[in-house]
Order: sequence, then C-alpha cells, then structure tokens
Amino acid sequence: MDPQQTAEVLGALERRLTSLEQTVLQLIEGPAAPYLVLTYPEPIATSLAREQSAAHYHEKFFSLLDVGETSVRYIAALVLAVLCDGASPPIPLRLMGAPISLGSWAGLVAESSESLRASRSEFAEHVTTGLFRSSGKPTPANRLLLSEFVNLRNRERGHGSARPEGVYEGLYRRHVSEIHDSLKSLPFLNLPLVRVEQINFAGGTIQYDLKVLMGPSPMGRIETARCSKQVSRGETCLWDWGEELLALDGLLSYVVCDECGAEHTFFLDQATTKAAHYYTYSTNHRIERPPIH
Ligand SMILES: [Zn+2]
Repeated sequence: MDPQQTAEVLGALERRLTSLEQTVLQLIEGPAAPYLVLTYPEPIATSLAREQSAAHYHEKFFSLLDVGETSVRYIAALVLAVLCDGASPPIPLRLMGAPISLGSWAGLVAESSESLRASRSEFAEHVTTGLFRSSGKPTPANRLLLSEFVNLRNRERGHGSARPEGVYEGLYRRHVSEIHDSLKSLPFLNLPLVRVEQINFAGGTIQYDLKVLMGPSPMGRIETARCSKQVSRGETCLWDWGEELLALDGLLSYVVCDECGAEHTFFLDQATTKAAHYYTYSTNHRIERPPIH
C-alpha cells in the first residue's frame, strides 16, 4: 500500500472511531431511555419503550402501569421457577382455577423470602440479592413494586372514567422515577431472558443455541451455551451468561401468538385442570395452551 492509500485508510478509520465514540457517549450521557430499555427483558422493555415514546401523559401513565405490572409478573415468574425447580404445577394449588390477580403474584414473592434464602441454587441468590436484605426484610425496590405499586395500579386501573390530561401528568411525574429506580436496583433484571432454539449434543455435553430476548422486539441474536441441565427446545429460560439455565416452566413463554402471528412474551394468567391461559401486555392478546401440571 502506498503512503497516500495508507493515509486514506487511517483517515477513514479515525472518522469511524470518532463516530463510534460519539454514539457510546450519547448512550452513556444522553437521555437514559434507549440505554435503559435495551438492558431489560422483552416484556418490561416493550412497556418501557412505549412509556418513553408516548406523546400524551395519559398514554405515558398507563404504559408506566404496564411497566410495573410486567415487572411484578416477571419477578413472580422467576421466583416461582427458582422455588418449584421443575416440580409441577409451578404455582401453589390454591391459585389453580380462577384468574390470578396481580396482588396474588406479588403476595407469592413476598412470602418467598425464607424459601429463597434456604435454596442453594445460583438463581435463588441472584433473585434474593435484589429483593431481600440478609435479615429477610424486603428491599426498598421490593416494597415499592410489590406493595405500593400494586395498590396504585388497583386504584388507577379501577378508575372508571377518563380524567383531564393534567391529572395523568401529575400521576406520571409523581411515580415515574421511583418505578424506574426500583428496576435499576434489581440486577437480576439484566440477566438475559432467552429461548432455546436448538439443542446440539457433542462429546458428552449439551450445547444450546439461545435466542436473546432483551429489549423491545428482539432481533434474533443467538448465543451459545454449554449446560449440563436438560432443557426442552422452545423453552423460555433465564440465563446466567454461563452454564446455568432456569426454565420458566409455563409461567412465562415467548411464543408465536395465535391471534396475530407475531411473537410476544406471554404471562400465565389462569391455570385450570383443562387449560392454561396466557396474556401478553405488548398487544393485550390471549392464548390458551394445555394444562401446566
Ligand atoms: Zn398477538
């Protein structure tokens, strides 16, 4: 390469580096929104993205309620998956039958403190760290999301008629920081949610191709993990970036929607002896699957 070509290549590289540097700085220092959204699992990230892009305060506020609700249900799914450890059904028998309320999901997390701390699993440790102090008392994020937020949501969703935009602006401004701050203080929310796409057996180990379900509308990024535990193809799991997968066992599934054909994260809503009913916050669609026990 002659000196002039070298100089051109170096110049092009320098421009590329400068632009990359600017992008990184914008992500770190700029509005927290895009950075915040991309590091959360799909159902929470989708609600956060909607909250942050909404043009009107009533939309922002109701999307913020979705952020809180998806977080409570996501946390409950993780806690139950850790505690049931493959046993079925993954929910207590008293919750079989009727639709399960947000308060019931939150209650399950609140009463899990001792069992979580007694569990030896790695995921139990991850979840306990964000939710409970070493004394077993709830952390501030736990109190806010699983108690105060549930009351706020029940009060505001139950409000029959629409109110002036200024009321929603007030509600949104009053609650947005505490909800965002609570999410930020729960490190296990940044562990990747994944779906097992392919299982390869090689030399006595099992290798999983995992679709990463982080951020709104996951783009199909695939990571590979070696793991000794058997997990079925199509199962939605939490992954520790290493060798551990926690199967979410029908509590939460990222699947193709029967109503619109797109993929969403569905939360278990109601489990009867005949069927399991699921709901997604991203489109309010519902699906039915065989019973979970
Ligand atoms: Zn759908």
